[in-house]
Amino acid sequence: MKAFIQFLYFISIFCAASYAQNSSAQNFGPVKFSWHNHSDWYYKKSEPYQGWKYIVIHHSATRAGSVKAFHQFHTQQGYGGIAYHFVIGNGNGMQDGEVQDTFRWQQQLSGTHVSVNAWDHNVFGIGICLVGNLENALPTKAQMEALKKLVTRLKKMYRIKSKNVFGHRQVKYDDASGRKEQTACPGKKLDLNSLKP
Ligand SMILES: [Zn+2]
Repeated sequence: MKAFIQFLYFISIFCAASYAQNSSAQNFGPVKFSWHNHSDWYYKKSEPYQGWKYIVIHHSATRAGSVKAFHQFHTQQGYGGIAYHFVIGNGNGMQDGEVQDTFRWQQQLSGTHVSVNAWDHNVFGIGICLVGNLENALPTKAQMEALKKLVTRLKKMYRIKSKNVFGHRQVKYDDASGRKEQTACPGKKLDLNSLKP
């Protein structure tokens, strides 16, 4: 009996070892999750960086805002922290035209800036948010200049095609339905065509 139990013990060690080997072979590399909120659904669904293919532009739909403020708000909403990779200030909460990257960019994590229906654009899409309600008000000159510069730089760095630069509302669902995100974001006052060459 004792020998049999020992046999089972060795089998289980062997299985655990081969499972560990197989599962690490499927990883894409080390993922640095230093964020403390690991408990919410959006965070768990976040996948490691696998290469940026899209740029998705958003507005905050608020008069004021900052990386810190959005981070607090999105954490409360259960998005595992600020949804975007970059925020461009409008002078209310951040300097006018100031670009700040977030922990998602610093750690090369996927975003949570589009809905679950278009998840591909969270995993492969760089999310940029302009502070302001651009449905009612134009972005500032400094914001547009900063946005154009940032988009140009990211396109060059990751060879992202112009057709893959979107306003949030232009992003299509992952399925073949052809449906688009149900949102007015980034607002009608943001001239998306000015970002195309
Ligand atoms: Zn948006």
